[in-house]
Amino acid sequence: MSPATKSASKSAHKSVPKKATAQAPQPKATTPSADGIHPGSLLSITQLSLEEVSNILALAERLAGEPQSKHATLLENRKLALLFYESSTRTRTSFELAAKSLGAMTTLVSDKSSSIEKGESLKDTGLTLRALGAECIILRHNASGSPYLLAKHTGLPVLNAGDGMHEHPSQALLDLRTILSRLGKKQAATDTTLDGITVCITGDILHSRVARSNALLLPRLGAKVILCGPQQLLPPEAVDLSTGITLERDFDKALQQSQVAMMLRIQKERLAGMQIDLADYQKQYQLNEDRYFKHAPTAVVMHPGPMIRGLEITADIADGPSSAIEEQVRNGLAIRMALLVRALNGGAA
Ligand code: ASP
Repeated sequence: MSPATKSASKSAHKSVPKKATAQAPQPKATTPSADGIHPGSLLSITQLSLEEVSNILALAERLAGEPQSKHATLLENRKLALLFYESSTRTRTSFELAAKSLGAMTTLVSDKSSSIEKGESLKDTGLTLRALGAECIILRHNASGSPYLLAKHTGLPVLNAGDGMHEHPSQALLDLRTILSRLGKKQAATDTTLDGITVCITGDILHSRVARSNALLLPRLGAKVILCGPQQLLPPEAVDLSTGITLERDFDKALQQSQVAMMLRIQKERLAGMQIDLADYQKQYQLNEDRYFKHAPTAVVMHPGPMIRGLEITADIADGPSSAIEEQVRNGLAIRMALLVRALNGGAA
């Protein structure tokens, strides 16, 4: 525990129930870092040390494994705002259910039904939420870097729930939790945890914040990451994202080397005039039974959703025994509970 957290713990909020005080995050345990960003924020996966990743995984494991009654008051009376400028099913619902299962109050502000429609800026929306008592903001935005702006202007912990084509750090953490459990490994992260494991990420890498956050995280644990896709959706520069990354245009070859196959949707909303021959794409990059059993019959199949069945993945594979897709969704709940506790605990998980 940092000195700041310790001293804040001494002045524990009276409304925190006694039985929960040993573990309950304390209000206002905030020592903004030099750049004004609250330490409970999660803006990019790169900000986390492997030790912090391990702490988050361990907390998620504990929260997922215990009865809900054990943590039902952990964030009692805390106020969280979900600020969503883009559509979402999994991320939004799991953050909201995670918050509620820890006893927190949540409010959802969407660009479709708020003053954002009238032209209010992100900064003013953030300051308004803070004035209303929000102690943490979960932000999804179509502009890369917007979580930094919000964190800077509000001083609140901000959790990046996907910013444009930039990052989706909580997705990378839930994907890691899924990979570790499917491979029978402990929920911990060291620089050798994924030694000997190859993960191929296939599809629209160019527009994918999920691919970026995973490609920034997994090689740090020793994994080899193969990015796979056609030229248009996978520029050669992608290899420079991190060490441990290679590019492979041939999906069959990528599969032959992989223990994990992560499929991505073509993000039509971000194609901006780009013409993709879908029939050809399907032929070359679809994960279907033929391809799977021929090239990677034991690989764990993953997809962050939403899936377009029949395009990047077929139903038999998506619903088959190797698919970890629903497990990813469930793991999202556990990871996001841990991130909320961390956010309101001054950055300690
Ligand atoms: N749900 C993921 C995201 O928000 C992936 C996708 O939309 O295709 O980035």
